[in-house]
Amino acid sequence: MTLLPDTKTDSAPLRLRLEPDPVLRVVCEEVSEIGREVGVLVQGMIARMDASNGVGLAAPQVGRKMRLFVTRAPGDRARVFINPTLISASQKEVEMEEGCLSIPGIYAALTRPSDIIVQAYDEQGRGFSLEATGMLARVVLHEQDHLEGVLFWDHLPLKQRTRLQKQYRR
Ligand code: ZN
Repeated sequence: MTLLPDTKTDSAPLRLRLEPDPVLRVVCEEVSEIGREVGVLVQGMIARMDASNGVGLAAPQVGRKMRLFVTRAPGDRARVFINPTLISASQKEVEMEEGCLSIPGIYAALTRPSDIIVQAYDEQGRGFSLEATGMLARVVLHEQDHLEGVLFWDHLPLKQRTRLQKQYRR
């Protein structure tokens, strides 16, 4: 059984933007008002992330130049980060394999801080502070980069990055 689509809501599935879409390279802008429109976008992004088996998705990956991302680390609930600020990152670093919904099929081990503190607003406009470690810390750092137009392979040595870029274009 299927339900008739509700034409009154903005429920069109969000299209995933893939490398080399230029929207992935913009520095995103602060969200000025957290209202209904942002709520709809956030729900759409969580649905898109889950449908793509992602652990995180940033607004530019669906074509919105907004400082906003969502996460669902393994075993964690969906989380929303609007206008996030990285408050601290540990000296201690850890290597983990990363991939990106905008660069399908490409994975690489990357070294980043193991523990972070991030402040942000949720979709209700409530501010929060979160201490994260493990996979959630990693996802937040990866998504935060997207808001600055940075992709995970930008952190790799040039030789390795060039090899992955060739592999991606094939
Ligand atoms: Zn990504």
